[in-house]
Amino acid sequence: MGQTVLEIKNLESFYGPIMAIRGVSLKVGQGQVVTVLGANGAGKSTLLKTISGIMEPEKGKILFEGEEIQGMEPHQIVNRGIVHVPEGREVFPLLSVDENLSLGAYTRNDRVEIERDRQMVFDYFPILAERRTQEAGTLSGGQQQMLAIGRGLMRRPKIMLLDEPSLGLSPLLVQEIFGILRRLNSDEHVTMMLVEQNARVALDLADVGYVMEIGRIVMEGSADRLMESEDIQAFYLGHQ
Ligand code: ATP
Repeated sequence: MGQTVLEIKNLESFYGPIMAIRGVSLKVGQGQVVTVLGANGAGKSTLLKTISGIMEPEKGKILFEGEEIQGMEPHQIVNRGIVHVPEGREVFPLLSVDENLSLGAYTRNDRVEIERDRQMVFDYFPILAERRTQEAGTLSGGQQQMLAIGRGLMRRPKIMLLDEPSLGLSPLLVQEIFGILRRLNSDEHVTMMLVEQNARVALDLADVGYVMEIGRIVMEGSADRLMESEDIQAFYLGHQ
């Protein structure tokens, strides 16, 4: 593993009295893809929300590039280069594709570079270039997912937190999007933390995986090792 960029230590997060994250620790290295697997309700989305500052942890530390960021405001966390692509895409439906991408870059003022990044997004997702003037709400689910990832890229992320990019998409589209995520990791060196229920595609892309159950990490290891694990095969790969 390269240098650790993100380290989480003994994190606990609550919704009122409900303890959704129960002492999670994990590390993400520079340039890595780390996946967090788990069933519905395991706490994966809550983990990402806590990292990106949407939720404040009750206990524990989140270190980014060696500095503690837990308790900071979401905009401060984004400005450090942690970009959250939320579950369900959350694009702005009445704004065009182009306007959604521009909003991704709203904290930047390097116009030439912004246009270069927009072109990069269009190179990775040519369909977005074709639809650049179209309202985002009229795009298909897969195209909206592409736009959500593209909007995240416009912030120049040091790390992207991706919440279930495969959700609701056909197997073919999932393959397409994960192929693009792989290229973004290998060619643009984007570090990724990927939360997924689809263990097969996630482990195929990731270097390292963690498995969450009811707010805790119950298994961790290289993606190759997890793919071969009998427990993972029985509980997460069996029916896909
Ligand atoms: P999913 O894939 O369904 O999003 P997940 O692994 O991401 O699942 P979370 O959404 O993080 O799981 O939920 C973790 C736990 O916290 C669950 O028990 C869930 O019911 C609870 N929870 C999530 N959101 C809220 C909320 N807004 N208020 C109260 N409890 C919540």
